Amino acid sequence: MASSVGDIVDAFLKPVTKEGLEAISSRLLAQFETGLAKEKHDGEVKMLITYVHNLPSGEENGDFLALDLGGSNFRVLKITLDSENRDISQVDSKFSISEELKKSDQDRLFGFIAESLNNFKKENGITSKLPLGFTFSFPVNQTSLTAGTLIHWTKDFKAANCEGNDVVKMLRDASDARKFPDTDIVALVNDTTGTQMAVGYSDQDCHVGVILGTGTNACYTERLDAVTKFNGDRSQHDKVIINTEWGAFGDKGSLKDVITEFDKAFDSQPEVENGGSQIYEKMISGKYLGEIVRHAMLKLINGGVLFGGKSSDVLKKFEGFKSSYLSDIEKGECMDVLKNKCGLDPVTEQDCEYVTQICRAVSTRAARLAAAGIVTIVRKMGREKKCTVAVDGSLYKLHPEFRFRMRAAINEMLPCNGVIIKESRDGSGRGAALVAAVAKQ
Ligand code: BGC
Ligand code: MG
Repeated sequence: MASSVGDIVDAFLKPVTKEGLEAISSRLLAQFETGLAKEKHDGEVKMLITYVHNLPSGEENGDFLALDLGGSNFRVLKITLDSENRDISQVDSKFSISEELKKSDQDRLFGFIAESLNNFKKENGITSKLPLGFTFSFPVNQTSLTAGTLIHWTKDFKAANCEGNDVVKMLRDASDARKFPDTDIVALVNDTTGTQMAVGYSDQDCHVGVILGTGTNACYTERLDAVTKFNGDRSQHDKVIINTEWGAFGDKGSLKDVITEFDKAFDSQPEVENGGSQIYEKMISGKYLGEIVRHAMLKLINGGVLFGGKSSDVLKKFEGFKSSYLSDIEKGECMDVLKNKCGLDPVTEQDCEYVTQICRAVSTRAARLAAAGIVTIVRKMGREKKCTVAVDGSLYKLHPEFRFRMRAAINEMLPCNGVIIKESRDGSGRGAALVAAVAKQ
């Protein structure tokens, strides 16, 4: 058991050396294969079929609506694609989804979505029935581009009576119950797919979409031949985008040598909605990093190593140490965060140094684990020499060091350096419109 700062940093970083990442990557690859083979399997990752077969050509045109649920905000967008100028413009409205609504029920959650859409149309004078793409960032078992059941909630959503039900139908029912005019829902997409499409609009080498935000996940272009479980019509297409749902990697033990006592301590709290699942996601994404650091700090406080052994009310609370503090601290604002945001007192320079080391270890482990995932996908496709990876998400965009550490780890694993990372501008919004546009053609 780790009890000094050095021990704790080692516990986080020892499993993610280059060799460690290679071992993790081969286990993830094996999980990918299992997921592609059969509909029902006892593997960890779902490898969901998206029914998106092509990147946008750039010739897409017209006005579209998009809904985006599952990230830090819920959004409604109107997107205009202009192929002549290769331009995408948008009008959008953001809504925060209360904790209460996330944990409400089908009618209230989808009613809120339907109402927001209806208000948005009124406010923006939209009277025609525009095609709509729905970005729904949870694992969905799709049977076509416009139908799919929610397998289970992730992150901190928990609305009752949704799991096992068709997402498009839940929205339609909520809308009908409120007598709103019909909407033409032409595509149900994961945010990873939207992200890949948004970059694919101007880069035909974009074969991967990655989200590093509240949650984490990746999708990629797979040969239909390799998707043994696909039992639809194979004559029309030779490839399909697969939503890996890599966040669930580790759920049956594949990451047991990476998990620390702090990961376990945070995940076993009653406040965590999905204890014991989404293990890889919990080590990587923004929703969880603060909690991991908080538990490491609590251990050091109990051992008298930090703050003279004195904790604070804020730090004792679930999510009292926010994931955004990791960014602030790595930007050099440690003293301010600990004193003014966490209510700790006294705080010494030594305390700051220790806490900074822990934050750095936790975010470095996250970045390196994400890199191993990306490399696994690029190798699986055999595209080590040339491949664009589209990335979106608040963690990637806002953390000062995450991207550099992830890049460095990718280069360690793939010295040939053919991976190009492109930040996607609003994949969840624009991407959904692009999928809708491709579907409409
Ligand atoms: C969900 C994925 C989603 C990811 C990023 C995960 O919790 O299961 O479907 O892509 O979060 O939003
Ligand atoms: Mg998003």
